[in-house]
Amino acid sequence: MGMTLTEKILAKACDRSHVVPGENIWVKADLLMTHDVCGPGTIGVFKREFGQNAKVWDREKVVLIPDHYIFTSDARANRNLDILREFAQEQGIKYFYDITDLSNFKANPDYKGVCHIALAQEGHTRPGEVLFGTDSHTCNAGAFGQFATGIGNTDAAFVMGTGKLLIKVPATMRFTFVGEMPPYLLAKDLILQVIGDIGVAGATYRALEIDGETIGAMTMEERMTLCNMAIEAGGKNGVIAADQTTFDYVRARTDKPFEALYPDGDASYYSHRIYDVSKLEPIVAKPHSPDNKAKVSEVKDTPIDRVYIGSCTGGKTTDFINAAKLLKGKQVKVPTYLVPATQKVYDDLFTEKVEGMTLAEIFARSGCMEPAAPSCAACLGGPKDTFGRMNEAEVCVSTTNRNFPGRMGSKQAQVYLASPYTAAASALAGKIADPRDFI
Ligand code: SF4
Repeated sequence: MGMTLTEKILAKACDRSHVVPGENIWVKADLLMTHDVCGPGTIGVFKREFGQNAKVWDREKVVLIPDHYIFTSDARANRNLDILREFAQEQGIKYFYDITDLSNFKANPDYKGVCHIALAQEGHTRPGEVLFGTDSHTCNAGAFGQFATGIGNTDAAFVMGTGKLLIKVPATMRFTFVGEMPPYLLAKDLILQVIGDIGVAGATYRALEIDGETIGAMTMEERMTLCNMAIEAGGKNGVIAADQTTFDYVRARTDKPFEALYPDGDASYYSHRIYDVSKLEPIVAKPHSPDNKAKVSEVKDTPIDRVYIGSCTGGKTTDFINAAKLLKGKQVKVPTYLVPATQKVYDDLFTEKVEGMTLAEIFARSGCMEPAAPSCAACLGGPKDTFGRMNEAEVCVSTTNRNFPGRMGSKQAQVYLASPYTAAASALAGKIADPRDFI
């Protein structure tokens, strides 16, 4: 029996010719990523279990990316950054994307921003490899044809010390998208459709293998949006086989060798769903769950208080380009927060253009708030002084990935998850709006 893409990668990572779902295997890690929220806890377990003077298994394979609670005066959040700094120095960690000057982040060439997008932009996400990260959206990197999954601090500490981890091989659910993307749909609509169809526990501990001609025509950033939210269906990982688009993206960022792997033609899948994208509509996830699916047309005109465009899911350069396409030459009617995922995305706002005008100019003229410094910001609430945090019982249309109660701050806040098109259309209307009315 052949293997799925996830099984192929895991078999290679445990030096076996074949694995089957349900087996427990020791997997070699190609990379371990941690950030300011889980890094200190991971480091604490690592030192407790491996010794105060222990060294990480490979100083070039542990990547530290502060991104969550960066621009805050919260003392505990700041202390977390210091712990990462001390550890990086002590261990000689090669890839530590520190922020050294909180008051002038633009001057610091090391700072990157949100870990999942920074990993991709720095060439750390490579086909055929295994990435573990102390963040549930580590599955984002599955877009590059790698096995990427979020793990807890204890597991991460074990990887830190040994470079391997015992995991159970997940069964694979296959999702095939066919047809040409209609101009009003984005990857976010597709993944919200899937999550709504199968539920937030519909893929628990399973791999989501995503393929089809529609995916082949997508940019890497759109593919990331799909894999990023595999966890919102409970998935262990999301994965898309590498193609020329993948190779072009990765090769522009790293010369490290990798071996792309592909599913066997006779692979056995737990299930297979096929979507014709020409029949899909713009989708939102209503409060308070990512699977609370509704067509935008069903919730159109719902009053809103603000729009938030940001995060690893919806704060990439193409997300801002897509929002700008709708906003150009028009005025927003509600406060519209812009939070670029990374420094690179932030810089792109001033160089990327839509019809001759930079994104930053389009946003400024349409009345959006000035783009914030790159970080997770209000995607997960954060300390009270976090940019864009929802401190009141307000309603937000957001390009982020989670809308459980309190996710963006106040438990009284209501968050509708949406594509950058739907978010921009809603900003212009001052209520939930269908992008088809603006395209
Ligand atoms: S942007 Fe949001 S979802 Fe992404 S890593 Fe940060 S907190 Fe998590």
